[in-house]
Amino acid sequence: AKAHGRNTFRFYTREMNTQVADRLQLENRLRRALEQDELFLLFQPQHDINSQALIGCEVLLRWQDPTEGLIMPSRFIPIAEDSGLIVPLGRWVLREACLQMARWRAQGLQLPKIAVNVSARQLARLDFTDEVRDALQESGLPGHCLEIEVTESTLMEDADLASRQLAIIKAMGVRLSVDDFGTGYSSLAYLKRFAPDTIKIDRSFVSDLPGDSEDAAIVSAIIHLARALGMSTLAEGVETMEQCDFLRQLGCSGIQGYLLGKPQDANSIARQLGELVS
Ligand code: C2E
Ligand code: CA
Ligand code: CA
Ligand code: CA
Repeated sequence: AKAHGRNTFRFYTREMNTQVADRLQLENRLRRALEQDELFLLFQPQHDINSQALIGCEVLLRWQDPTEGLIMPSRFIPIAEDSGLIVPLGRWVLREACLQMARWRAQGLQLPKIAVNVSARQLARLDFTDEVRDALQESGLPGHCLEIEVTESTLMEDADLASRQLAIIKAMGVRLSVDDFGTGYSSLAYLKRFAPDTIKIDRSFVSDLPGDSEDAAIVSAIIHLARALGMSTLAEGVETMEQCDFLRQLGCSGIQGYLLGKPQDANSIARQLGELVS
């Protein structure tokens, strides 16, 4: 038993060393990826649940590594956040997203807004508000064409700072949505305080609808609360017609998910918008 224990221990440390080395290696490669143009953006459509109209697109980051192939954000965003790389990386995403949105608009394509994910480390930097202003100015985009998605935990990390930063950004006309709602330490007080335009209902509450009665109760409560506070709701991860119909009955305002569109490249979004125009 002792020998076995020792082996287990050795195995465990080796495993840990591998993990640390792997992380460091990935961090260095990610730094290079940003310089060498290996990152790109996909866009996932967001639709009005009643009219089906395209109301926006969420910007989702991808990394095309020359040797490993496509790397998903779940693998590299946490490392970017821990290392601080998320700051230059997030600045790049914001700028590219605004430039793409401006390109669509220059082509005469009607898309109300793009939604960009913003991490806590980004929002906590005082010059973040300048980055937003610069991205809008450089692209010539009006503020209302941009939405930033911030999670509950990001808002609560330093609520006073977040509140000041968001007030400046909101004054530019930029919209705010609370991401992954219901999964963190949700507080009703901060909903009132931050007054987001939209609450995004997390996929974990949507995936078992309509069968799971607890999830149904939670989603129904979120929608009613949002409506009472004058906020719209957007359900994430909608994959089936049954989920969509159920959410519509509950009064949800918008949906995003594989049912209506996967994350896709800018041309594919343009084609969809072009069909709507003609
Ligand atoms: P998120 O903000 O919650 O984004 C939604 C995720 O759900 C995306 O995963 C999207 O591809 C996926 N998804 C959308 N519809 C469906 C569906 O119907 N079914 C299922 N099973 N999944 C669906 P993705 O693209 O892998 O991104 C994962 C997370 O990485 C995002 O979660 C976000 O937290 C983060 N992320 C992505 N891009 C950025 C970025 O530019 N900046 C920051 N800070 N975080 C980002
Ligand atoms: Ca998001
Ligand atoms: Ca989300
Ligand atoms: Ca469930």
